[in-house]
Amino acid sequence: MGEVTSRKFSSSSSVLPYRRIVAKFGTGLLTGGSDQLNEQIISSLVSQVAKLHHQGLELVIVSSGAIALGKYKLGLPRKLGGIPYKQVLAAVGQNRLMYLYEQLFSQHNITVAQALLTKSDLSDRAGYLNARNTLLALIKLKVMCIVNENDVVAVDEIQEAKFGDNDNLSAMVANLVDADLLLLLTDIDGLYTADPHRSPDARLITQVERISPEIERLTAGTTTGTGVGGMITKIEAAKLATACGITVVIADGRKKDIMLKLVSGEALGTRFSPISSKLESRKRWMLSGLSTRGKLVVDAGAAQALEKYNRSLLAAGIRGVEGKFERGDIVNIYDIKGFHLGCGIANYSSADIEIIKGVHSKKIAALLGYDYGSEVVHRDNLVSISR
Ligand code: GLU
Repeated sequence: MGEVTSRKFSSSSSVLPYRRIVAKFGTGLLTGGSDQLNEQIISSLVSQVAKLHHQGLELVIVSSGAIALGKYKLGLPRKLGGIPYKQVLAAVGQNRLMYLYEQLFSQHNITVAQALLTKSDLSDRAGYLNARNTLLALIKLKVMCIVNENDVVAVDEIQEAKFGDNDNLSAMVANLVDADLLLLLTDIDGLYTADPHRSPDARLITQVERISPEIERLTAGTTTGTGVGGMITKIEAAKLATACGITVVIADGRKKDIMLKLVSGEALGTRFSPISSKLESRKRWMLSGLSTRGKLVVDAGAAQALEKYNRSLLAAGIRGVEGKFERGDIVNIYDIKGFHLGCGIANYSSADIEIIKGVHSKKIAALLGYDYGSEVVHRDNLVSISR
């Protein structure tokens, strides 16, 4: 099977190998296969998340279950048909889902936040930046962010389409927050060499180094009962995340202490190795001239702050702006001698930077009439080419 191996994942050190984790809980897992949410399962997942959180790890949850909850509450027949029906169910279920998480996390003294995202939000440059900045700020504040697709407006997901499900959403979120690990927790052990329900010789694939066409073929015809996705969307998500330098594991979320074990590197489920480093993939994305729209020229002090001290780029250090770009675009950063320092996502448009360049951050609001923060390029959104 070429790139597939079934050897054990070797985690040699006792130090936890991951710092920032996105955990996706699918509907099938949260309902335990029934027509309502299984509080025991959710409570066990929440306790594990809380434990990891209190150990200092950073977690973001992507949770399904809104539609299932809405359906249970309204008690409408399963097949009333049509997308608006499911959107209604999501609208009814989402706040119940959050209420449940709120209650469970409060037992562990953890504050929760809700972020409802859509694919189009994230493909829009300003939307991407806003979502990224908000999620990173929540992480910094130690608030547990619970993400779901905004089903009320995102039609793709609820149709039988292949994109827009919570598997792909969680890969996008993992990329957005620069996670090290994406856990796709479901109600099956992982990826098998054949359908385990039908074939007695089906073998669990414990490690995938690269998602080859053979691996993709294994997913054909697999779906889950209650969720939108199945193995196909999980492999799509794994492909996206591993290309961004993120390790992915598909595992059975009902297994005792599964998250704690996976995070410590235990070989359970199917683990997909990242195919590049996180920095590399981010660098590749930012440095690919294709997406850069403009140029900022910075003075010697700012160049040193970026290069040596890994600081954000402030307006005061900017000498010149070239090209026309919007907030959220990627810009190249040069020093006054023309040395390419790196690139980053601009928090202000070229027109704004023309006005605020060289001035103290405190004056931004007065000059523009608004203020997106003192950083013109935040260090979280900056890639130095020497780094
Ligand atoms: N967003 C949907 C929900 O909360 C579930 C989507 C999925 O299962 O992938 O019900």
